[in-house]
Amino acid sequence: MSWKINSYLLQENQLLNEESLFFTGNGYLGVRGNFEEGLPIDYASIRGTYINAFHDIVPIEYGEKLYGFPETQQKLLNVIDAQTINIKLGDEGFSLFEGEAISYSRTLHLDKGYTERSVHWRSPGGKEVKIKFLRLASFKQKELFMQKVVIEPVNYRGEITIVSTVNGDVTNFTDKNDPRVSSGHARRLNLNKAFQQEGLSYVEVEALESKLKAACGTVHSISQKTAREVQVKGGRVEFSFHGSITDPIVFEKKSVYVDTIRHGEELLSSVEEIQSHLSTIDFDEALKEQEAFLAAYWLDTDIQIEGDPGLQEGIRFNLYHLLQSAGRDRVSNIAAKGLSGEGYEGHYFWDTEIYMIPVFLLSNPEIAKQLLLYRYSILDGAREHAKIMGHKKGALYPWRTISGSECSSYYPSGSAQYHISADIAYSYIQYYLVTGDIEFLKEVGAEVLFETARIWIETGHFKDGTFRIDAVTGPDEYTCVVNNNYYTNVMAKHNLKWASKTYKLFSDSEPGIVEEWNKTLGLEKAEVEEWLRAASQMYLPYEPELDINPQDDTFLNKQKWDLQSTPEEKFPLLLHFHPLTLYRYQVCKQADTILAHFLLEDEQDSETMKNSYDYYETITTHDSSLSSCVFSIMAAKHGYKEKAYDYFIETARLDLDNTHGNTKDGLHMANMGGTWMAIIFGFAGLRIKEEGLSLNPVLPARWEGYSFPLRYQGRKLRISITKADTKVELLSGEKIDIVLSGKNYCLVKGESTIVTSPVY
Ligand code: BGC
Repeated sequence: MSWKINSYLLQENQLLNEESLFFTGNGYLGVRGNFEEGLPIDYASIRGTYINAFHDIVPIEYGEKLYGFPETQQKLLNVIDAQTINIKLGDEGFSLFEGEAISYSRTLHLDKGYTERSVHWRSPGGKEVKIKFLRLASFKQKELFMQKVVIEPVNYRGEITIVSTVNGDVTNFTDKNDPRVSSGHARRLNLNKAFQQEGLSYVEVEALESKLKAACGTVHSISQKTAREVQVKGGRVEFSFHGSITDPIVFEKKSVYVDTIRHGEELLSSVEEIQSHLSTIDFDEALKEQEAFLAAYWLDTDIQIEGDPGLQEGIRFNLYHLLQSAGRDRVSNIAAKGLSGEGYEGHYFWDTEIYMIPVFLLSNPEIAKQLLLYRYSILDGAREHAKIMGHKKGALYPWRTISGSECSSYYPSGSAQYHISADIAYSYIQYYLVTGDIEFLKEVGAEVLFETARIWIETGHFKDGTFRIDAVTGPDEYTCVVNNNYYTNVMAKHNLKWASKTYKLFSDSEPGIVEEWNKTLGLEKAEVEEWLRAASQMYLPYEPELDINPQDDTFLNKQKWDLQSTPEEKFPLLLHFHPLTLYRYQVCKQADTILAHFLLEDEQDSETMKNSYDYYETITTHDSSLSSCVFSIMAAKHGYKEKAYDYFIETARLDLDNTHGNTKDGLHMANMGGTWMAIIFGFAGLRIKEEGLSLNPVLPARWEGYSFPLRYQGRKLRISITKADTKVELLSGEKIDIVLSGKNYCLVKGESTIVTSPVY
């Protein structure tokens, strides 16, 4: 039961959300859960198919364009639509909104990797059929999107027509009133080719500015002998089947997507090659591959919760969609909405490093590595961005991007978020600590650490024996362009410390590579020493009376926003108040200092962190979906058991219950990672530091128990927490020391380490 997400609703507003919830993806392709036959014209729908990173370049229009503002931005494009299948019984077209839906359901199979829509339909004229629509995006062959339709006669025997369309005449969704969605540039594709050739319906499109091309080639099969006919109308290729329905009809559609980022210029031959490679694969065969792939994924990833089926469903749903959205080909990443919708225009943010990589790092480190390699691939873009922002050296990662250049048009809560460079550095450091992969640190990570460290020296300055960073924005987007944002400073400190540590590590062990860095990057010992000096003198705001860390230099001087008296309909505040109004108050959109306390907990003592938690909790709106999970983690740390649980629930079912009201624009991917984090870092109290791995588990009162797998330094572990005890098993790999509830243990394969756990 908990491997299925079901819906039985046919309500208009629910359908729009379900287009996101039931999307089908594999990290390369994402197809929204639209109805094959479409919706009535007056129903809202965002019909979309996306190829990760496939974008156009659109101008940014400013009233006043100041120096260094980006002139263009990238935009993920809705590409060729191969979903469409229309069915006609005699002269009556199938639509759930005419006649009667005697039964209707849709299911996402999290363990089998496909979605299913089943209907029992009676036409206005009384013709009855049962129809099943199945679809999948193959995890094995990333270019493949496959559909199967089974039409079963109930009382109707007679003529049937199936029209399958591949449509290149598509546009993007826009909404002028929501800053989280694109407001213009809906039509960005030119049609290059649309034709039918030896059973292949082929459509090729080209983005207006980026000149990137994408193509889709579809082949069909049908169980009955029928007459076939093809029409090419503008950008659409329509393949029609006419026959009569007596027994069930099985119709399959195999669509292969390619693009010039990955497949070179010869798109038609790429499609043909992949189609011929897939020629013996039918839907059921592809399903077997999905299941095998997912069995391995879940073995390394699934968290099992006993005693709460609703949450179990939420967690699995989130982990599944993370997998569906994670680009793993070095040229793509995970967009804020994954591949489920067009919100934030398909841009990649810090969300990946702080909220999503941790999930993969400890369950599927190969995917984490691919995501980091993507950041490496845009290092030159970050160097370029640093120059534009007035720095002589270093790399400043763009706040939001697809192919490497800055895409944020509102710098106070965009480019000013310099912390993204430290977040990326943090992620490389965590990768090293979790995998122990020193080669990767040498070949890839070191350069990123050095170049990002440089940006802090460029931005900050020494004053009165401290190192200070002025005019940046921290994670909280309701407080912009401030001096000494605690989060930024402490993350920069970590970045600087590790850049210098890495340089020293290799100076001792591999002087050859250090010489090479000195040459290619122009590094000098003095510069590296300065990194360490800046790190050790980094100014971290502290207020002794309250014993908290102020979010920045002036934060505590502002008046507090009256959240209690703010009517519910005024949230999220960003849609109802001018940014300047928000900047004048102590009010947070999301976790900022609290997040820093989680990521780098050894920088403060526990009392200061607890006081800070109490303080910020009263002024945080959680208007960003990146917030609740962090409060859950820290509530668990501070012993606020009920709160930890309440925040956790917020994250686990955020999209399933559409609590932020914008699931239609796509799923909240960072929050989805946050659910996993709230369990692993929050309830289980996992930390990975230089000293090693530690756990400090607690059990929420409402659960009977929970367990999860972990990958750590080439080993596989399984952790199970029940009311009676905590059990840690080493499933594979060499013995290893860990700290469990404050005590040291050596894990040995085949022997369980058991401690009596504190129970909530
Ligand atoms: C949050 C950012 C986040 C972005 C994309 C914004 O609402 O404030 O922290 O990176 O959404 O998810």
